[in-house]
Amino acid sequence: MLCFVLWGNAKGNYANAIYTNVEAKKHFSAALDDLKNHLESATGERFTLSQADSIVGEGIFVWRLKRADSADYPELFEVREEGFLLRSDGKKKFQILAFSQDGLMHGIYTYLDTLGVKWYFPGDEHTFIPKLKSVQLKIDKRYHPDFIMRTYFGSFGFPKNVVIDKNGEVEADWQRWNRRNRLGGQFILRGHSWNDFMWKNGKVLRANPHYMALVKGERVKVATASKFCISDTGFQQLFVNHMLKLLNEQMEKSPNAKHYIVSVEPSDGEGFCTCPNCKQLCSVSNQVYLLANETAKAFAEVSPKAFVNLYAYNRHAATPSFSIEPNVIIQIIPYKFQKFAKPDEMIKAWSAKKSDLFIYDYYGLPTITLDAPLTKHMVADNYAKRVKRWRDCGLKGITLETTYSTGAVGVGLYLYCRLAWNADEDIKSTVEQLYRNCYGKHADAIWQSQKALSDGNVSQRQALTKAVEVLKNLDEKAKLSDLNKTYLINYKAYLLYLHQLYDFNSAQQKNMDEKAEKLIEFVYSIFYRKVVHPNPVADHLLLRSKAKTYISTYWNYTKPKQKENKFKTVRQLTDDEIEARFAKL
Ligand SMILES: [Zn+2]
Repeated sequence: MLCFVLWGNAKGNYANAIYTNVEAKKHFSAALDDLKNHLESATGERFTLSQADSIVGEGIFVWRLKRADSADYPELFEVREEGFLLRSDGKKKFQILAFSQDGLMHGIYTYLDTLGVKWYFPGDEHTFIPKLKSVQLKIDKRYHPDFIMRTYFGSFGFPKNVVIDKNGEVEADWQRWNRRNRLGGQFILRGHSWNDFMWKNGKVLRANPHYMALVKGERVKVATASKFCISDTGFQQLFVNHMLKLLNEQMEKSPNAKHYIVSVEPSDGEGFCTCPNCKQLCSVSNQVYLLANETAKAFAEVSPKAFVNLYAYNRHAATPSFSIEPNVIIQIIPYKFQKFAKPDEMIKAWSAKKSDLFIYDYYGLPTITLDAPLTKHMVADNYAKRVKRWRDCGLKGITLETTYSTGAVGVGLYLYCRLAWNADEDIKSTVEQLYRNCYGKHADAIWQSQKALSDGNVSQRQALTKAVEVLKNLDEKAKLSDLNKTYLINYKAYLLYLHQLYDFNSAQQKNMDEKAEKLIEFVYSIFYRKVVHPNPVADHLLLRSKAKTYISTYWNYTKPKQKENKFKTVRQLTDDEIEARFAKL
């Protein structure tokens, strides 16, 4: 009886029952739990979750279609890898239909998103769940993403410290957030691989010095980032055989995989071969793509699912003078580290050379910014426009190298996730809704404050002062939800971080150690708020700052269990403590 009273009337929400015909394992099981839990939070009603054999009666059906059903769903079958259908008369049945498990998971989150659930920042504490009387929708729509690969990663990997976060909860929050925002796709592309090839074939390369690049009249040694004599057919054979071996390993490991992709990306840096035959190839790009083509031809003989991948980047940013094999995946890097052409021109030149291009971009690299606010064209809504441009240019997949900092890139990454699915989404209204949902009555003020913070025309200090000032004038009587309070306090934590960062940046030699310690201690004391990416800050202080000797003794993240380390003294700051510190700014 109590249960009945607590959970309300079960009528009208698809009988409050979820059914699936897929065995609930790992990520898929987590997605089903998310569906159940989010629907319960939104409605205050209880939902059941169970297995079923057929779509009969009332309920929400998360249903994997079989190949044999393809004639009934031709449009869906066409986009089967990640596509799905949402179908309901708005009364008794809600169907999430897909040919793949990934498609079903994307369908679950799209249904919740359509109901108004939003995962703006990672962590359940940041999830916006509207109060709903009904979760019924009248809908019949096919979905599939605008980009077949939608990924990002923060430099230095997920926020980690085994003393501060023993169970890796922060990483788990980011991983969950990626799933909920429908990231992923069917392709996994890797970076530099020539180094690995070189070390694994060191013996043969040393025995055949003419396989190595000729630089300033001499053959280079087998050493870090050395290049090769690419025009040498003996060398080509050695390289191709090595890559074929890697391909075979992948095929043995996952016989049913959709694709097999091996990277043939050069190591970074200079030192390409200048022997007469290589010189005849005319450019570094021609050298690099010739080798990619030779490998790709050998792959095509093994399997139609076998690809090689590499970047168009740095010394090989230019298009080669010949055509590229169809099973070479090119990921262009137009916005940084290349002198070939302006970004838009580079995209154009490559699009003319090859369809099915992927792109790689840098968004708020923490090695450069240490999570300070982004300005001008990198401000979230400006940056998001790039995604639409990439779609319009016909690019197929995206990797962003970025930072795990909601303070610096939270809004931008959220927009990226959405636009990578649907590049036509109205950014302006998404951003307005975000501020309204996250900050409630303070939405306009926070927007003003963040705009001030990313004003690139004044100094960072001045921008921070302005941003803080706006918050000091907030109407304290305004009623806020718990979620609004969480977003607000975490924004204040970010501003406090910036204050510490700028203090450190302007520190004198005599108090450098003290300022560095204050900064790193603060970063770890807000670790769970996910406002700042701790790894790049820790790395900067340890390896590149004037306080590195002190930091290597007391805050050495590479040796987290080192006895002198102070990680164990760190305590997570409470909301009240953040508030008190903020009041003193
Ligand atoms: Zn050569």
